[in-house]
Amino acid sequence: MKAALKKADGQFEIKEVDMPGLSAPDWVLAKVKVAGICGTDLRHWKKEEPDLECKIMGHELAGEVVEVGEAVTNVKPGDRVVIETVLGDDTCDWCRVQQYNLCPHLYDVRMETVSRAFAGYVAGPAKKFHKLPGHVSFEEATVLDTFAVGLHAVQLSGLKLNDKVAIIGAGPIGLGQLQLAKTCGADVIIVDVVGSSLELAKELGADAVVNTKTEDCYKKVMEFTDNRGADIVFECAGGPSMPETLPLATSVTRIGGKVVVVGGFDPGKTMIGLEWQRIQMAEIQIIPSASYSFWGIYPEMKMCLDLLAKGKLNAKKLITHNFPLDEINKAFATAQDKENSKAVFVALTV
Ligand SMILES: [Zn+2]
Repeated sequence: MKAALKKADGQFEIKEVDMPGLSAPDWVLAKVKVAGICGTDLRHWKKEEPDLECKIMGHELAGEVVEVGEAVTNVKPGDRVVIETVLGDDTCDWCRVQQYNLCPHLYDVRMETVSRAFAGYVAGPAKKFHKLPGHVSFEEATVLDTFAVGLHAVQLSGLKLNDKVAIIGAGPIGLGQLQLAKTCGADVIIVDVVGSSLELAKELGADAVVNTKTEDCYKKVMEFTDNRGADIVFECAGGPSMPETLPLATSVTRIGGKVVVVGGFDPGKTMIGLEWQRIQMAEIQIIPSASYSFWGIYPEMKMCLDLLAKGKLNAKKLITHNFPLDEINKAFATAQDKENSKAVFVALTV
């Protein structure tokens, strides 16, 4: 099968590799139809990472089932599916209680199985394959991973009706967070430096937007919240902007409010200065959120699929570009250069 393998310089090359197979009776093999590029993928692009050399990346994907093991009952060949790529080792204390997003072996396990979207086929345990309703396209389904990340953050935040929410970052994660917060009945102000992303945020229901290139974020959030600050701030920018955006997030949180850290850090030590005295005296809670798993008895990805299928989430508006897998480097360049390309969610047709 065809696959995009990571090169030493961090770019991709398309090569022929062996097909994955069914390693257990409860496994499923699917043909990948559409894969997505997210902020986490972008942070690995053009970066020299010997551990990832010749590896298949990608963790947002939808496809069609081609083969199932004898113990599989939830899907059959020909079914259209979204594939959840958060998969633990199924043996640790956290996996046992469905907190597999915290599994110590999460990355090893997922990279060897379902988290290989930039390739022709993918195989893994059937419980990670969710059947799509006929009216949900493969492309839309590819955004479900992004929505599920936001839903897990909502769960940890305790967000409720009429809360005043600030979202830092209007990329795919931030715009997903916006839609989820609006669906929960919150008032939302969203912050970014890219004008086209903020325009899209308005179309998706943002009550106010702030472009920090030209506007004072603190002032606008205070105006939006009767000078209290936001009840909940979701930091959704992540990556190299964290040393600026996390302090910004804490500065616009009200006394007794919460900051949920959704955006991803780069590996290793990131030093970020925060106003700890104010954070302590104001009892501001800082809540890190890591991918997604279950909310009570429901898988968070399945919850997002239900919301999408019922029209309570809009994936179509987030998908700004689609490239064939062969043009994966061009697709990454487009996703990275969002100020010029106006890219939000960039999809790859496999
Ligand atoms: Zn585990």
